[in-house]
Amino acid sequence: MKIAVLSTNAKLYSTRKLVEAIQQRGHEAVVINHALCHVLIEEEKPVILYKNKEIEGIDAVIPRIGASVTDYGSAVVRQFEMMKVFTTVKSQAIMRSRNKLRSLQILSKAGVQIPKTVFANQAKDIDSLIKLVDGPPVIIKLLEGTQGVGVVLAESNKAAKSTIEAFYGLKTNVLIQEYIAEANGADIRAFVVGNKVVAAMKRQGTTGEFRSNLHRGGKAEAILLPPEEEKAALQAAKALGVRVAGVDMIRSNRGPMIMEVNSSPGLEGIEKVTGINVADLIIGYIEEKKPMDEGDTIGV
Ligand code: ADP
Repeated sequence: MKIAVLSTNAKLYSTRKLVEAIQQRGHEAVVINHALCHVLIEEEKPVILYKNKEIEGIDAVIPRIGASVTDYGSAVVRQFEMMKVFTTVKSQAIMRSRNKLRSLQILSKAGVQIPKTVFANQAKDIDSLIKLVDGPPVIIKLLEGTQGVGVVLAESNKAAKSTIEAFYGLKTNVLIQEYIAEANGADIRAFVVGNKVVAAMKRQGTTGEFRSNLHRGGKAEAILLPPEEEKAALQAAKALGVRVAGVDMIRSNRGPMIMEVNSSPGLEGIEKVTGINVADLIIGYIEEKKPMDEGDTIGV
C-alpha cells in the first residue's frame, strides 16, 4: 500500500513514527502537507494538487490535522474521501471532535457521562448559570482551546462572573462546567485504535494545578484501565466516529467523565510513557480495515 501521513511537519515525532511503522510493515510512506494542498472541485472528478502535481495512487491517509488548520485540513481529508481513499479519521469526525460544544452534545446524546455543562451566548443571568452546574467553583472553557489554554477554574461567584464577562466582552464563546474536585488535577488518556484501547496513561498536574496537561508540566504514568473506563473511552470514540482517538477523561465519584476526544492524538507522550508502539498498531488497523471499507462505513 501507499500510505500518506497528512502533516504540516515531517520532523514531528508522531509523523516520523508513523512513517517508520508504514515502512517497517512493507508499505510505501509519503508525508503530505495538507496546508499546501490545493483542492480542485470539478464535476465527478475530485482532484488534489500538491506542489502543482496531482496526487494519485494513495491507498490510505492518516490525518494529523493541527487545531489551527482544522477547516482546511478537513476539506483536504474530505477530498480524499471523495477520491475513495481510506482514512483513519473521517473529515466530519475531525470537525466534530474539534468543537467542544458539538462534541459534548454528541457524547451526552450517546449516553456518555460528561461533567454538567452549560453554554450560553450572552452575559445575562450568570448567577443562575453558575448554580446550574452546582458552582461555585466552576470550570470555564473557551470553545476552541487546546492544551489547557483557555481552561479556567473560578473558585468564587465573583471570580466566575468577572471571567465569564471578560470572555463575552472579547466576543468568545465559553462553556461553564461543573468542577470535578475529586479528579485532583489528574486525568486519563486512553488511546483507542479501532475497537480497542491499546494504551493508557494517567497524567497528574503539578502541585496546585487543576489541569493535567503535559504541556503545563504534568507528569504521566502508564496504567491499565479498569473495565468501566475502557468502556467509556470506546463509547466516546465511537459516538464521535473517531476510530484512532485520544480520549481524555477524569475520575469522578460518579465514575469516569469524558472531557474530550482528540482526533489527531500525539504519539510521543503515550509511546514513551507506556513503551507501546502505537504507530505500528495504527498501520495494523489500516491493513485490517481498508479492505472492508465501503467508502462510508468506517469512521462515521
Ligand atoms: P484542553 O482541551 O485545552 O486540554 P480540557 O477540557 O481537556 O482542555 O481541560 C484541561 C484539563 O483541565 C483536563 O485534562 C483536566 O485535568 C482539567 N479539567 C478540565 N475540566 C475539568 C472539570 N470539569 N473538573 C475538573 N478538572 C477539569
